[in-house]
Amino acid sequence: MLLSDKIKNTIRNIQDYPKPGITFKDITPVLADAGLVREMMQQLIKDYKGQKIDAIASTEARGFIFGSVLAYELGCPFVPVRKTGKLPYQTLSRTYNLEYGTATIEMHTDAIKPGWRVLVHDDLLATGGTAVATAELIQEAGGIVAGFSFIINLSFLPGEKNLEDHFGVKPHYLA
Ligand code: AMP
Repeated sequence: MLLSDKIKNTIRNIQDYPKPGITFKDITPVLADAGLVREMMQQLIKDYKGQKIDAIASTEARGFIFGSVLAYELGCPFVPVRKTGKLPYQTLSRTYNLEYGTATIEMHTDAIKPGWRVLVHDDLLATGGTAVATAELIQEAGGIVAGFSFIINLSFLPGEKNLEDHFGVKPHYLA
């Protein structure tokens, strides 16, 4: 079976969570399948090994899971991007629109050196708002957005197009 189908078949869909009308993609059954996690990591490493990536930036919290392993495997720094008020040092911040309301994310001012090529990784691409805000933090710090990596793309939403329009790069996803 294709890796993408294995991932799609293993993810648990939770209807009307966290609010009516949303189908939440629960990745905990994927995390519980060590063989599948290994296959996913091996695919990600294969896709990025040899590319010039100086750091991986991931958004709290599920982006940390695979993002930090990928950084370890590529031998580059991991940059945590967190919800407002969580990071202890000086931060850069971005507020962006959610489906309802807004969210603010932050990154340490010294997390990225000017000129670094930084890969944005998160578990899931929906509207693209989180990834755009993360990429803008990277650019504000003087970094270059090397690409976008996700486990899942919700293809009925405009995330993929948003990222291509904003940054001219096609996002990479496993499923
Ligand atoms: P967006 O900014 O709209 O692309 O949303 C992506 C972020 O929200 C990611 O960090 C996801 O973990 C989370 N997210 C959005 N929609 C869902 C969903 N249907 N199921 C699980 N997580 C989601």
